[in-house]
Amino acid sequence: MNVLKKIIFVTIIALNSFAFFAQNLKQYDGSISIDMNSKNLIADFKITLHDLSKIDTLKLYLHQSSKISEVYSNSKPIPYKVIQESFIGDDKYISLPTADIKENTVGLQYSLSLDSLKNNGFTFNENWLELNLYTAWFPFNTKYGTFAYNVDVNLTEGYNIISSGKVSNSHNLWKISQQIPSVGIPIIILPQLNHESIGNGKVKIYHFGLDQESVNTIKGNTIFHFENLNGMFSNSNSNNLVLTVNKLDHTTSYARKNFISLSIDGSFDSFYDKILAHELAHLWWNNASVNTWEDWLNESFAEYSAIILQRDLYGEDNFTKNIVRLKKQTKDLPTLYQIEKSNNDYQNVITYKGAFILYGLEFKIGRVAFVDLLKVVYKNKITSTSELLNTIEKELGKEIKDFVIRKLKGIN
Ligand SMILES: [Zn+2]
Repeated sequence: MNVLKKIIFVTIIALNSFAFFAQNLKQYDGSISIDMNSKNLIADFKITLHDLSKIDTLKLYLHQSSKISEVYSNSKPIPYKVIQESFIGDDKYISLPTADIKENTVGLQYSLSLDSLKNNGFTFNENWLELNLYTAWFPFNTKYGTFAYNVDVNLTEGYNIISSGKVSNSHNLWKISQQIPSVGIPIIILPQLNHESIGNGKVKIYHFGLDQESVNTIKGNTIFHFENLNGMFSNSNSNNLVLTVNKLDHTTSYARKNFISLSIDGSFDSFYDKILAHELAHLWWNNASVNTWEDWLNESFAEYSAIILQRDLYGEDNFTKNIVRLKKQTKDLPTLYQIEKSNNDYQNVITYKGAFILYGLEFKIGRVAFVDLLKVVYKNKITSTSELLNTIEKELGKEIKDFVIRKLKGIN
């Protein structure tokens, strides 16, 4: 792993382990205007929260260069303070007394120059402008949890939008809607919408600045994993996946629901492939609730599926490396069973600890029996741990079920 990749790896882990003190955000409704010629963005975001009774002040981070024109609630302006303290790099925060916020909804109107965005290398590029959490282009505070969003974008003619969730347009007005709660609003703006389609259009790959060899590798790996997953668990009936890959100077790769943004510094290799394989596996593993610890049935199953996919693609040495890393990553983590979202290690536990438990199960029952079990889990659309344990008992007996319970509860 070279230095840059280490930075990327650390960034991914750090964002996964943001403390969710409370799931408080509910929904963002945005009305945005983006002018690619004057490089200006004007935004009006209405942010709805679940409950403000336990907080005195609401703290929302936004890019340093942003000019706030109004903060309002129930159509009336409310007072706010701007504090020079950053969370992600080039941002500051807006402090609002919650007593002034009516019906748990607050609105923010602001403008910012797209030229001033530079955090994590996401600078203005007329051929691939990437706005995301790292650029602090929308008001955010990851401590308040995840949110669904509807964003309307009035965009300069001749440009297109790629994003997470549903994207549609009528002339220059683009509508983005993501109803699966997410930590950010990624938008990529580009003049051309050339893409490669895989798996009956379920996977769309958009790329920029890559050499043909990398494009071929990405396409080849995606097809390999997709067909392998189809073979293991039968056809996926779930949503589409958008994969975006660029070779710009971004230092961060990230994944959101059904959306991956890879910034590649060298050529596409097993490091990036792991992120790709995990997200592809989510086309199968997405039935459990994302709002409770049962999310481990999505995250751990996607993560361990990715490790199996990589074993099939790269061989046993790669598998050993992945397991050694997984063991090291999960060594000091708390137990998985009924872990609270407020736990600082929550995201790592439901992703990596669960994956390590699945490795233990595969090791115990053998690879063929393990894939057979996963097939049943997928077919039966299992959404809770108790259903999973019942299935394990039915398929493999009580001893194996008790083994998994012990692992989940951290009993040796
Ligand atoms: Zn995931």
